[in-house]
Formats: sequence, C-alpha cells, structure tokens
Amino acid sequence: MTNSLLSMKNVTAFYGGSQALYGLSLQVHQGEVVALMGRNGAGKTTAIKTICRMIRHKEGEILFCGTDLDPLTSHRAARLGIGLVPEGRRCFATLSVEENLVAAARTGHWNLAQVYRLFPQLRDRKGKSARTLSGGEQQMLAIGRALMTNPRLLLLDEATEGLAPLVRKEIWSAVAELRKGRDLTILLVDKSPRELAKVADRCVVLERGRDAWTGTFEELTPEIALRHLGV
Ligand code: ATP
Repeated sequence: MTNSLLSMKNVTAFYGGSQALYGLSLQVHQGEVVALMGRNGAGKTTAIKTICRMIRHKEGEILFCGTDLDPLTSHRAARLGIGLVPEGRRCFATLSVEENLVAAARTGHWNLAQVYRLFPQLRDRKGKSARTLSGGEQQMLAIGRALMTNPRLLLLDEATEGLAPLVRKEIWSAVAELRKGRDLTILLVDKSPRELAKVADRCVVLERGRDAWTGTFEELTPEIALRHLGV
C-alpha cells in the first residue's frame, strides 16, 4: 500500500464535557476512497470535524502528509490540502454560483471549467444566487467549492442526505468520476452501504467513537454489518 496521507491515532474529542471520540484510529492512503460508516451517533461527523479542525481533539495524534494537525486552525488545514463538503452543504447564499466557486479557488487541476464539466447544471445556473438553487444543485456547488480549493484530501459528509433519488444518483456518479482520476483521496460518510460499496476501496466502521472494524466491502459480511452497523 502507498503512503498514508491521513493518520489518526487514539484520537479523543469532546463537546464541552461530553465525549464523542474514544480513541479513534484510522489511516487513509494516497489515492484511496475510504467510507466512514457507523450507526447514528457513532462519531463519523465528529471524526470529519477533527480532521478539518472545526473541533480540536484532546488526546491522540492526527497527521496529514506527515504534519501534525494539532496546532492548526481550520483555515490552515484547508491550505494544507484538506477540502470539506460539510453536512448541510453550506455556501454563500447571496453570492452567485460562479462567485461561490471563484471565492474558493486555489491554483491546480480544478478550475471553473473542470467543475462545470463535472456538474453542467452549475454552468447553466452560474449567474444565479446560491439561495435560489435546489438542494441537489446546492450540494453540487458545495462539492464544486471544495474541489476549487484543489485539495489532496476531500472530506464528504452525508453528501446525498435529503436529496431526491435521481439527484442522489447524479452525486454518486460525480463521486465515481472523481475516483477515476486517483489523484484525489476521498474520505466519505454516507448512510447507503450499497452506494458506498460502488465507489469506496475500503470502509472503516465506527462504534461508540472508535474504530470497530476496517476492511474491503467484500470482507464486510452480513454478520459484521449486523454486529457493527445493525443492518
Ligand atoms: P449521525 O449518523 O447521526 O450523523 P455521527 O456518527 O456523525 O451520527 P456524531 O454527530 O459525530 O455522530 O456524534 C457523536 C456523538 O457526539 C453523539 O453522541 C452525539 O450526540 C454527540 N454530539 C454530536 N454533536 C454534538 C454537539 N454539538 N454537542 C454535543 N454533543 C454532540
């Protein structure tokens, strides 16, 4: 296996006095697509938030490209190459689609033309303000914004949640397209094991704030799924 791009070791994290991560360890290697799975409240979003420094971990270590993320702000983590598509697909509501994309831009493969190639709907709506977009279009814009930062690691948190089946399909096709290049490493959270299995190389299953199981989707037997995911 290639080098580890992201390494979390024995990470704990709290919301005030309430503990959410209890010694989480996981590795994501360069070029991999890794699915983060687990029951509601298992700690998936918290894990994503600690990686992009929206919350700080208390114990353990998070290394990205060998750099310790502990002292870094979310802004610095983004500059290091961590791109987040947050749960709830936040964009600048009053800015146009194109302004949203340009505001995020950093030099690299991903530019307006590449984002519009991935999501032609965004090109059609480029002059419209983000708040007039449908939920699906807002999700595409959120992914587009993260790609415009030219990240090395893309974090996708519940990218298809609340979307209509056809739109979900479009988002999954875009993720499959991103996977093809293999120059982008992706860590994604979603509730659909069937869709995750199509795009991810491997999954890490969280249970009560720690890694309970990791392996390929072929190795994820019904017994393991039942034990750790309850499905
Ligand atoms: P879901 O699939 O429901 O989104 P999750 O696996 O992403 O769940 P987290 O959202 O990371 O889980 O939550 C982990 C734990 O932290 C849960 O016990 C949750 O109740 C708690 N938690 C999450 N956000 C907060 C918060 N802002 N304040 C206090 N506790 C929180």
